[in-house]
Amino acid sequence: MGEYVFPVTLPSVVVHGTAARYAVQRIFCVGQNYAAHAREMGGDPQREPPFFFMKPASALVADGALVPYPSRTTNFHHEVELVAAIGRPGQDIAVADALTHVYGYAVGNDYTRRDLQTAARTNGRPWDISKGFDHSAGVGTLYPVAAAGPVERASLWLTVNGQTRQRAAIADMIWDVAGIVSLLSSYFALLPGDVIFTGTPAGVGPLLVGDVVSAGIDGLGTLTHTIVSG
Ligand code: MN
Repeated sequence: MGEYVFPVTLPSVVVHGTAARYAVQRIFCVGQNYAAHAREMGGDPQREPPFFFMKPASALVADGALVPYPSRTTNFHHEVELVAAIGRPGQDIAVADALTHVYGYAVGNDYTRRDLQTAARTNGRPWDISKGFDHSAGVGTLYPVAAAGPVERASLWLTVNGQTRQRAAIADMIWDVAGIVSLLSSYFALLPGDVIFTGTPAGVGPLLVGDVVSAGIDGLGTLTHTIVSG
């Protein structure tokens, strides 16, 4: 392969216990995977199964970064989520085999232009501008499975300026990680470099310039950002 006319840097995340980084190629996200959040978004968790959308890998934002308040919104929201990173290729993966395809886990924050998302939902339009904008995919340190705590028994939480906004148990997910990986692999051939935001619990809410937003999951550390003027 020759050189590129414009140099390329692969988006990547820090991996616990090694200097090597995990290169990210695709970011998949699950919508409405906690019943209480599905209800707060006007959904019906009994009738609407979780669904998928994507963000570009270029939207990654690391722990400790400054996150610019995005343009074209007046309702910029946080969503703490468990992120699973694929480490073994597969498609049509059985639920029973799905966790063998997971390399590790991280804390995520699925930043959202909620007003634009609501308008897209109302009008049946794509979610890209509400979900896939620059700096919209917060991902903390990636913990290989063996170094992560027992994620299925962990809690996840999010604070803004020290005040708790979200707190729930990973076990409250409608579809667990194995179910998500299995279903996603029926749509896409999964590869190392694929990361999956697994949905947020109830308590999503607005962020303002100057806010310090911290997300955490037991055994996976924390992910902290300061919102700055865009
Ligand atoms: Mn989300």
